[in-house]
Amino acid sequence: MYLYNSATHKKEEFRTHTPNRVEMYTCGPTVYHFAHIGNLRSYIMEDVLEKYLRFVGFDVNRVMNITDVGHLASDADTGEDKMLKGAKREHKSVMEIAQFYTDAFFEDCRKLNIKRPDVVQPATGMIEDYIRIIQTLEEKGYAYLAGGNVYFDTSKLDRYYVFNDHKEDDLAIGVREGVEEDTNKRNKNDFVLWFTKSKFEDQALKWDSPWGVGYPGWHIECSGISMKYNGEYLDLHCGGVDNAFPHHTNEIAQSESFLGHPWCPHWFHVHHLNTNDGKMSKSKGEFLTVSLLEEKGCDPLAYRWFCLQSHYRKALVFSWENLDNAAAAYTKLLNRIAALNPEGETDQAVFDEYRAKFVQQVGNDLNTSMAVTAVFDALKAKTNDATRLAIIGEFDKVLSLSLLEKAAAIREKSAQATQTGSGEYTITGEGDPAVDALVLQRYEAKKAKNFAEADRIRDELKAQGVEVTDVKGGAVWKKI
Ligand code: AMP
Ligand code: ZN
Repeated sequence: MYLYNSATHKKEEFRTHTPNRVEMYTCGPTVYHFAHIGNLRSYIMEDVLEKYLRFVGFDVNRVMNITDVGHLASDADTGEDKMLKGAKREHKSVMEIAQFYTDAFFEDCRKLNIKRPDVVQPATGMIEDYIRIIQTLEEKGYAYLAGGNVYFDTSKLDRYYVFNDHKEDDLAIGVREGVEEDTNKRNKNDFVLWFTKSKFEDQALKWDSPWGVGYPGWHIECSGISMKYNGEYLDLHCGGVDNAFPHHTNEIAQSESFLGHPWCPHWFHVHHLNTNDGKMSKSKGEFLTVSLLEEKGCDPLAYRWFCLQSHYRKALVFSWENLDNAAAAYTKLLNRIAALNPEGETDQAVFDEYRAKFVQQVGNDLNTSMAVTAVFDALKAKTNDATRLAIIGEFDKVLSLSLLEKAAAIREKSAQATQTGSGEYTITGEGDPAVDALVLQRYEAKKAKNFAEADRIRDELKAQGVEVTDVKGGAVWKKI
């Protein structure tokens, strides 16, 4: 596979430390609120990447942290503690907040067909490991104590690794919005490894440590968790593009200083989902969630489809109109798949040819829009329906759009509908289950007095050249 590497700014052949084995790490959510659909864009694209790697034969060990401590409002160690902020907002304990929003996150993932990583580790479960790493960094001369906190000394590095062409000046304290100066820092890029009680008197979660009672900095958790579950050599590290600096930069600094050798060669960053008025942000308070999509009648998988249509290295603009268009295209595709006849033998040669092409197309820097196009190509393949269905099912191992399951449900529903001669609504047509399904949907929309939806379906049928005539107790349709 060829994958863009933000550490080298190049598209490179993806290689692993151990042949056929991928040690993969993903920065997990900060669980002080619901995940917004921007966060979930990152997790969808990482999920496709993981599934693609498995699809082409890698054995993947994917590890994710849950940030339930140490992430302050500013990524540069200043401002309020995010977990504390969430707990105060909801008059609950920090651990209650963490549990609630961790569960909510995985429920959203389930709805979006995002696989649960092999290892999920809450940050609070590994405090002793972080203390041990910080002690080693101190022994090696990479850490210092100031004002009660332990800092990483970036001046001790040959190179403070900075992604994505950040200019030194841009990193200056005070230049970036919301970054206050911490006078304890010896160098502007130094970061906190361990906070003591001197930071927040009302900090709920605190642990004893050689430096006093306190809690870990945000970055140390990902180094500690990855080194424990992925081992000393990580192959692939993922996150949203905002994680590149300072979070990933600092992870590299402390992991490599601790290990004494290079740590992770390949970095995968997903660009942001934005709204017309800017980046979607949890801390702004109002944001779009999966539940909100559902309340508006949108299938979460239509949102997954929407994300897959564009490349992970481009910012994606969300609007309800864009999402509606994606949802309509997704429904149309499902109806077309429903119209395929599953009976018959699969033509292995055709199947193999389509699979190989898919591997090659998607393997070009995770080209998911090509992957979506490949499904449409499969519908037009010069072969029988059973083979088309087999190909689509194969692609869906990577896309995870529930294509076959949803199409089968449409087929079943339409079969039931045409058979309900004694029931309330009988559809008489030309034996196309996809059309039957749409006619039934139109009837249900009308029954629910959703006339706009009924009209939209009628127009869609018309566009397909289908004429529907309402008759007593049902409808008759024909292709014109
Ligand atoms: P957080 O819960 O804030 O720690 O973020 C969880 C993940 O979502 C991280 O990988 C972030 O980089 C990513 N992320 C944050 N905002 C966005 C956004 N607007 N679009 C895509 N990914 C995002
Ligand atoms: Zn992380």
